[in-house]
Amino acid sequence: MQNKKIMKAINCTQLEIARKSRLLTQTQLANKLEIDSRKYSKIELGEHRIEQSLLDKIVDILDYPLDFFLEEGNNIALPISLHESGSFRKRQDISKKVLFSVESTIGIYLGCLKKLKSKLDLQFNKSIYPVNAEEFNNDIENIAEQLRLQWSIPSGPIKNLTTVIENAGCVIIKYDFGTEKIDGFSIWIQDIFPVIFIRHGLSGDRERFTLAHELGHLFLHTKRLSPNKEKEANDFASAFLMPYSDIKKDLNNLNIYKLQNLKEKWKVSMAAIAYRAKELDFISDSQYRYIFMELSRCGYRKKEPIYIAPEVPLSLKEMKDAFIYELEYSIDELKKFLCLNESDFNKLFLFNEKNNKVVYL
Ligand SMILES: [Zn+2]
Repeated sequence: MQNKKIMKAINCTQLEIARKSRLLTQTQLANKLEIDSRKYSKIELGEHRIEQSLLDKIVDILDYPLDFFLEEGNNIALPISLHESGSFRKRQDISKKVLFSVESTIGIYLGCLKKLKSKLDLQFNKSIYPVNAEEFNNDIENIAEQLRLQWSIPSGPIKNLTTVIENAGCVIIKYDFGTEKIDGFSIWIQDIFPVIFIRHGLSGDRERFTLAHELGHLFLHTKRLSPNKEKEANDFASAFLMPYSDIKKDLNNLNIYKLQNLKEKWKVSMAAIAYRAKELDFISDSQYRYIFMELSRCGYRKKEPIYIAPEVPLSLKEMKDAFIYELEYSIDELKKFLCLNESDFNKLFLFNEKNNKVVYL
């Protein structure tokens, strides 16, 4: 009877998340547990009884508190899109290890965010919601313009895109996925609030474009499939960061020196500004190619001049701080509430703060 009770209580998706977070395949974990891999596979599918002694071993090896495996709900979610940097190569190019890291990170953050939000009364006067592009005749430029208006964004360059997006109730998380292949991706948590993950270590200009691109996906592709979704998200990002009516006066007589000044002003890469100029017919295809040759000649395709500082997301820190300062949780109580051990808590919640040199407590 005791065994059956435990079997019922175990959340198999939590087990899968925990295993992947330790970068273990089912076979590798089965070997550590000294059980047959078919038996382990059935446990993860919820088809096999699990004895208390085995559960103790799982807790020990995967190093999550027992409660982690007893949580309710499904924290496995797929990103709307998973991007690799440079060209958008196929997912097969990403190693299993990286996929495990991404999937488990999403799963663990998802569980934590649900819990954090459940106890906090967070109000936002702006929001992100699915937009039906057909209603705008698929005019992405117009959609981006309307959303800027709706969000009361002043004309010209957006000073801090991270703050703008976070003020619409989106959680932005910078994370080191252990690869430079992924720049970012976004997910919705239970259709309630969106989360954008951004690779830690991106330059500010690249980070802002990735954020705007993901914002485009959240608006345009949450409820709608599109064969052109990458181009649409890029077009949205360009239009959102550099509205036609504001940037048109800057795009005449473009050359790489002028591009450097514009990068400083718009906090968007020189390459993205040149592309915008081509899309808006300020330069011809051949002028665009010439500018790109010049960028290559100067080595700017690999590393552009003009440093743009990365932005600092605050939503996660603010939620954590609200627990500590308003709900008066101690760090230990918070870790227990979130079912995380010390090092996982530090990695998930304090990583950004340390890297952004924010003094903690
Ligand atoms: Zn995309």
